[in-house]
Amino acid sequence: MTADIQAAGTRPALADAARIVVKIGSSLLVDNDSGRLNHTWLESLADEVVRLRARGQQVLLVSSGAIALGRRYLGLGPDQRKLEDHQAAAAAGQVLLAHAYQELLGKRDIRIAQILLTLDDTENRRRYLNARSTLETLLRLGVVPVINENDTVATNEIRYGDNDRLGARVAEMVSADCLTLLSDVDGLFDADPAHNPSARLIEVVNEITPQIAALAGASSTAYGSGGMITKITAARIAVAAGCATLIANGRHLQPIKAVEDGGPATWFVAHESPRAARKRWIGGSLQTRGQLVIDAGAERALANGGSLLPVGVLSVDGKFKRGDAIAVTDGGGREIARGLAAYSSRDARKICGRRSEEIGQLLGYAGRDEIIHRDDLVLMNG
Ligand code: GLU
Repeated sequence: MTADIQAAGTRPALADAARIVVKIGSSLLVDNDSGRLNHTWLESLADEVVRLRARGQQVLLVSSGAIALGRRYLGLGPDQRKLEDHQAAAAAGQVLLAHAYQELLGKRDIRIAQILLTLDDTENRRRYLNARSTLETLLRLGVVPVINENDTVATNEIRYGDNDRLGARVAEMVSADCLTLLSDVDGLFDADPAHNPSARLIEVVNEITPQIAALAGASSTAYGSGGMITKITAARIAVAAGCATLIANGRHLQPIKAVEDGGPATWFVAHESPRAARKRWIGGSLQTRGQLVIDAGAERALANGGSLLPVGVLSVDGKFKRGDAIAVTDGGGREIARGLAAYSSRDARKICGRRSEEIGQLLGYAGRDEIIHRDDLVLMNG
């Protein structure tokens, strides 16, 4: 084994994360033989959620299990595995799953909300903004979002297929600082532990090198779709978004506490904050599709960390859609900031120079107050 695989480093502290996405694999939730929900395990998970929240941490759950539960509920046999069967199973199973979370967390005075996402909701920037603001609102209201893929409408070409990647996209979307992937393995090993008794657990990965990716192999469990490969892919997405990623064995009760107590796990270290990663993404890698010229008052508001409101916009140039990157310039053409437009150029022209309260009347629908929200905005010199 070479030095870079052994990558020494300190384990990030879970207690330091403000926002944690916990992905729960089907094999933990649903008993392999009976196809029933594993209630004891879920109770212990609910206790973990209580514990994290009591420390002031926000928790989002990305839960699999709908298809496995739905198959049993609908009495589908082993040969009924067509896409329609999966979709029907997901439709039935998701209700059972959401109900279980609502009951278990409700008993602990925690409210939940269900979000079903499709690939488009994270890859298409307009829809991404919508999903993100809903999640932010739920978190602000103190709710635990319970997220799954919308398997009932997702077909193979347009689905994630595994909740590891979905979890990473959610973590990226909400600027989480920790993604915890709970599954039935202790973490990433330097050899296949099933075949090699001297295989060693890699505790900290500082960089996902091709060598690390090659260790993943193609393992897979009975119910879940994710093997180690999808976990590494998820870690890559999350780490690039400034989110540390943890692979831990969920087979024990209180699996997160077990990791905090020094139990086995693999950490993928993030080298920047989610905020810095997001600002780098917006400021550096996106092509701008248009520009807003703003007045001095708006410029001051931006310098103070505020959002850009339509009232401070003097003119709108170019053709852009909601979610596209646009430049913000002063009257002299100097680029002050860059951001993701909350409105299309057509709608932006209708509301520019007007107060946010007038938006509904001007556009005929209730839009956002900001033309670029401060979370979607990067100052070019700051
Ligand atoms: N979304 C699927 C379900 O809820 C699970 C996907 C996965 O196991 O990663 O059944």
